Amino acid sequence: PDAPLRRAMPSAPLRRPTAGRRLTVDAAVAALRPQEPLHCLRPQAVTDAARAFVAAFPGDVLYAVKCNAEPTMLRAIAAGGVAHFDCASEGEVRLVRSLFPEAAIHFMHPVKSRAAIRTAWSQHGVRDFVLDTDGELTKVLEETSGGAGELGLVVRLALPKGPAAYDLSGKFGAAPEEAAALLRAARPHAARLGLSFHVGSQCMDPAAWTRALALAAQVIAAAGVAVEIVDVGGGFPVAYPGSTPPALALFMDAIRDGAALLPPGVRLWAEPGRALVAGGASVVVQVQARRGDALYVNDGVYGALSDAGAPGFRFPHRLLRPDEAASAVLRDFTLFGPTCDSADVMRGPWSLPVDVREGDWIEIGQLGAYGTALRTAFNGFDRALVTEVTDSPMLATAGYEAGETRAA
Ligand SMILES: *Cc1c(COP(=O)(O)O)cnc(C)c1O
Repeated sequence: PDAPLRRAMPSAPLRRPTAGRRLTVDAAVAALRPQEPLHCLRPQAVTDAARAFVAAFPGDVLYAVKCNAEPTMLRAIAAGGVAHFDCASEGEVRLVRSLFPEAAIHFMHPVKSRAAIRTAWSQHGVRDFVLDTDGELTKVLEETSGGAGELGLVVRLALPKGPAAYDLSGKFGAAPEEAAALLRAARPHAARLGLSFHVGSQCMDPAAWTRALALAAQVIAAAGVAVEIVDVGGGFPVAYPGSTPPALALFMDAIRDGAALLPPGVRLWAEPGRALVAGGASVVVQVQARRGDALYVNDGVYGALSDAGAPGFRFPHRLLRPDEAASAVLRDFTLFGPTCDSADVMRGPWSLPVDVREGDWIEIGQLGAYGTALRTAFNGFDRALVTEVTDSPMLATAGYEAGETRAA
């Protein structure tokens, strides 16, 4: 029989010591004195950001689930008015469907297993699939029995390498001529036909969307077939220390400028991930040892802090010492994660009180995106706590605060 493979070191689920209560981060740390990383979720901030994006974007907003798939976060996003979800795996599809029976789920990974396509189509009501090759078009058509007149097909267009922090052009997407040919090939099978792109994650330049939309307009013209949807992807940036993006409204202006080049009547989609959830979580780590300006803490690049490792992202942070004041004088520290891998280092620099010591806690913010979602069980350091808090994000991103709405 199909006995599940038993993993030697399974990932422990996050434990919820304060279930049902929402405290401040300070109160939670004082009460729990956590010896494991404490993930502090801010569902209200996520709802506010989702609501602001939905109000600003002139089309449908699909949340990119991979960015953070915690049910608390997904519910907060839905509460902000997002009713569409961009999923990339059967697991994400199943999770979203279990939480939201009515949501529109879009399968936006250009390379899917046949089983995933079939299950999404026949069991979870997924109707929209992305593709960037003829082979994937064939797979989708075969596994959906030709689509029964309900199939949405979206062709992923590759973009030239852009200015984003994470370039996504190398892996997926059809070159412009191929994309035009795929639009023509898909048209007869599609109840809805779309073209999508992704400018790359944490893209600070609004004009990247205008350029991409201009290219999309050329591809649609070259294809010579009707296209109902253009999906401008994700990539909307958030604030990190030393890096302040232009306000959300400027990205929307750039999208409107580019969309003006599209044939009339095309519906826009967007797939934001980071922008909706980054501010929605912080992680409180504990200092386990200090050696000079090196602090050994209980979470690292194999936990929620992978972007603080090799990618070199900087994060807002502050010391927490509930019983006593710390020095007002700051200096720079390097953080080391708990695993035995020498790559488990986060150079920061992390500016903290000069007298930081074993037992102190450090709250690290902007980890709602690609932070809490990337934890592993490597080296057995997988135990963590989670709590919901009432705090605001540790850094605000212009345009995403509560009450920030702008008519589409
Ligand atoms: C990761 C991803 C997103 C979300 O990107 P962000 O930079 O987090 O906004 C959206 N669409 C696709 C296809 C992705 O792979």
